[in-house]
Amino acid sequence: MAGRNGFSQELVFAEGAVTAVILGIMQDGGLPHAGCRCERCVAAFNEPEKIEYAACLGLVDTRGAETAVYLFDATPDIKYQLNLLAVALGPHPDRPNRLRQPDGIFLTHAHMGHIAGLPQLGPEAMAVARLPVYASYEMGRLLQATPLWEPMLKNVRLVPLQLEQYVEVAQDIKITAVPVPHRDEWAVGTFAYKIEGPNRTLFYVPDIDRWEAWLDGDDMLNSVDVALVDASFYSKDELNGLNPVAHPLVPHTLKFFADLDCELVLTHFNHTNPVLDNDSQARSLVEAAGVQVAQTGQMFLL
Ligand SMILES: [Zn+2]
Ligand SMILES: [Zn+2]
Ligand SMILES: [Zn+2]
Repeated sequence: MAGRNGFSQELVFAEGAVTAVILGIMQDGGLPHAGCRCERCVAAFNEPEKIEYAACLGLVDTRGAETAVYLFDATPDIKYQLNLLAVALGPHPDRPNRLRQPDGIFLTHAHMGHIAGLPQLGPEAMAVARLPVYASYEMGRLLQATPLWEPMLKNVRLVPLQLEQYVEVAQDIKITAVPVPHRDEWAVGTFAYKIEGPNRTLFYVPDIDRWEAWLDGDDMLNSVDVALVDASFYSKDELNGLNPVAHPLVPHTLKFFADLDCELVLTHFNHTNPVLDNDSQARSLVEAAGVQVAQTGQMFLL
């Protein structure tokens, strides 16, 4: 099992640098998965150090007088993921026993594991103030059209992103919203994010239907240093022999990336995925291909 070193370890970041950090590696339901009695989930229910959070990426900029912190997606595990960032966030300006709110959250799409943390920002929990939440224009409209989200929306500031639009959150940090094909029940689209730092570029795509359905995908991936990508399922065995609804299988991903230039890191694992086990054949095949399995706390200097 990938495993984190300690359940609520606070991460420490390099000084004067821009760092991307993995804050969760699981498909939307996390590990353990609600109602699941598979061996992997039972182990995680029994041993908290085996718990893994839903896929999430952080970006920490320690170059300025104040450290800036951004999140990619608001997962059901957001409270723990913010706590991993406690040192980077520092104390709230008015409430010393609270953490400062992050400087922005970029949403990829409207599926549960990527937005279910949003209510934690509302008045019952973190009670943030005017926190910028970046999302597609259509996704912002969907949130606004759903009364259930009203209390949370009062605390945040929705910032609509157009396809391929970039935001320069600081000098030499450019974040671009890249549309990718993914199961789209509400016609709000799915973004991957290209994160360009002062020295290196990381591409984050936790969910995609099929690599081949993404036109110009090769060009994009050849232009980045690191690709952190959807590895939900390893084989059809995890789905009773059916094709996955909205994800490439890992062996196919390895093949697709074999001809590309970037460093490949796998994330967004379903609880059924044998790559999660250190001693599985699937894990050996991934590692033999020179590909990494994302770990919570893993950092990339950009
Ligand atoms: Zn997902
Ligand atoms: Zn399970
Ligand atoms: Zn999804």
